[in-house]
Amino acid sequence: MQFVNLTRKVEIGANCYCLTAAGKNIVLDCGMHPKADGEEALPNLDLLGEDAVDAVFLSHAHHDHLGSLPVLMRRQRRASVLMTDATRRLSDIMLHNSVNVMCKKREDDGVTAYPLFTHRDVESGAKRWQSCPLRHPCSLEGERLRLGEKEDVTFELFEAGHILGSAGVLIRAEGKAVFYSGDVNFEDQSISRAARFPEEPVDVMIIETTRGDRATPPGFTREAEEARFAQALRTRLERGAAVLIPLFALGKTQEMLAMLHKFRRKGRLPIVPVYIGGLSTKLTEIYDKLASSSPRHQPELQLLHSVAPFVLAGRAAGETPIGRGKIYGLSSGMMTEKTLSNGFARRMLGSPEQALFFVGYADPDSPAGKIKAARPGDKITLDPAFAPQELRCDVEEFNFSAHASRESILAYINRIAPKKIILVHGDPAAVEWFRQTLSQSLPGSEVICPEPGVRFEI
Ligand SMILES: [Zn+2]
Ligand SMILES: [Zn+2]
Repeated sequence: MQFVNLTRKVEIGANCYCLTAAGKNIVLDCGMHPKADGEEALPNLDLLGEDAVDAVFLSHAHHDHLGSLPVLMRRQRRASVLMTDATRRLSDIMLHNSVNVMCKKREDDGVTAYPLFTHRDVESGAKRWQSCPLRHPCSLEGERLRLGEKEDVTFELFEAGHILGSAGVLIRAEGKAVFYSGDVNFEDQSISRAARFPEEPVDVMIIETTRGDRATPPGFTREAEEARFAQALRTRLERGAAVLIPLFALGKTQEMLAMLHKFRRKGRLPIVPVYIGGLSTKLTEIYDKLASSSPRHQPELQLLHSVAPFVLAGRAAGETPIGRGKIYGLSSGMMTEKTLSNGFARRMLGSPEQALFFVGYADPDSPAGKIKAARPGDKITLDPAFAPQELRCDVEEFNFSAHASRESILAYINRIAPKKIILVHGDPAAVEWFRQTLSQSLPGSEVICPEPGVRFEI
């Protein structure tokens, strides 16, 4: 068995790995780098060769796991692509949106390599996407195996608790069990319930390390964080502030809507207008459609009906007047240039009566990361096309991460005690914390930080 890391650097970046087992090449995720542009944003797909891939597993529909899939599929014409049914529906929306974003970047910023794929590439590729059930062994082609049926390589998907449809995969081949986590959360969120990962022995575990560089503050509980968030929202809205909450369109937006619904129901929050973007709305429709058939909390909750958010879509969305006492839950989560959250922030940053609430991770180099690191009065450039602005609005941070804490990931690895542990999806400091901690807690296991582009035996 062999493994190669197809990302270009050790970082959160564009997730993509290849496992070779029983003579089959299996690609695990095929993401696009959120910060890089053009070909640089792709994983190192040249290392795979033409038509050499047998199957692709997609852990979930976030851009950093999915974004390069159509490019891969163009070169790998016989590969089947396996994922959950929810991921299949969400991926379709995400990839078509991605084509639109790339076309706009070509127009606005002159990135001539864009679009890296077209709407037609997405449509033709989607014909090879297979939905697999959770906790049922499937063949490489995505067919359910009958009891006693044997295959050289089998896939079994396990709920990962990160967003709707997210799953890890247990691959059995050559008498070994290899488990790839994708992005995981071992704690309950408002909608997503905690991961239900395999508890049986695993020989090789490939696991994400996103939060490896941050210890959970002592005494932290999600419940207390929710109470603090509800209180903060209430005080700002009561004094007439508009509250901007930058959110990822997929996952964070729906969790936030569910949380706002709960606050309203418990009387912790007045009923005020909530605004979300067009992409977020389409994705929320899938959450609602699959509410009773997907594993989650509150299967009866229809977000678009119960929270009734207003939708900001179309070219004029960015110029919508900002109203008093309203909540704007807009993407992107990191406030990337030219997105709704970036445009709204530019109009709010200088006024002390407005509020900006962060609820999750932001890359330190992103506009959201810059605001988080700044102090009141600091000059901030949210978009290089505009002059720097003084930070005057009210900024608060809350932690509702969709990723597992490092303590809970460590506890899972220690419990399973795989012979080999491959650390992925983390910045160098995060990976290093896991490497050091695991070498002490599991001295009999081999801990591997896979160097990009280097194929090795596992
Ligand atoms: Zn994710
Ligand atoms: Zn990720």
